Amino acid sequence: MAKASKWRRMGWLVGCLLLLQGAPAAASSARPPVQPAMPYADVLIDAGHGGIDGGTTYGDILEKQINLQIAERVYQLLRKKGISAALDRTGDYALSDDNRWMRSRSRHLRDLAQRKHVADSLRPVVLVSLHVNWSKHADESGPLVLHQGNYNSVVFARVIQSSLNELYGSAEQPRSGKTFYLLKHAPCTAIIVEMGFISNRDDRKRLTTAHGQKEIAGAIATGIHHYLHLRATSPDGVSYP
Ligand SMILES: [Zn+2]
Repeated sequence: MAKASKWRRMGWLVGCLLLLQGAPAAASSARPPVQPAMPYADVLIDAGHGGIDGGTTYGDILEKQINLQIAERVYQLLRKKGISAALDRTGDYALSDDNRWMRSRSRHLRDLAQRKHVADSLRPVVLVSLHVNWSKHADESGPLVLHQGNYNSVVFARVIQSSLNELYGSAEQPRSGKTFYLLKHAPCTAIIVEMGFISNRDDRKRLTTAHGQKEIAGAIATGIHHYLHLRATSPDGVSYP
């Protein structure tokens, strides 16, 4: 991994870059460092994988790149809609490198725990984790949204799934993903969006071209906008889980 500057590695875009990590935590600390003053964002966009962790692949196409490119587009679109948003990764690095507070030997776990730590610090209304699917069956295609066990997450997943279904011409239903670390441990309403299959030719084209990425990001941003509106105007409790 290229040695990115600390500013860059923090990966924050909340209008301006903010150094959130403060003084380095002791390597032996079992808990994440306490953050003093936190910025605010309604939406935290998690760009899956990064750095040493490429995610799923097809030839030289890496999931981590697709996730980041679409995450940045979603971020820009939300900002245009006047929705406060933050990205937890803004370049090609592993979030596990920022985790100096957890003792686990598993890089994967330290990576996921750091993503959760960012969510804990920011306390967004929603967390949207972006990923790309893979199947050994090349004809398997389309978007799939995974949700937590709570009502808000199920509603959020349905809104995003239907927005993506409209784009893809698919009829997929969201599924429970409550065994996934981030969905299990996020301090807010959270979903994982599998934006399409890298193993399917049509999906791959959509996932890797500027036009296709724009469409996917548009569908996700529109869905987020819709859900936040629903949540703000619902009298009976689309509320914090
Ligand atoms: Zn992934």
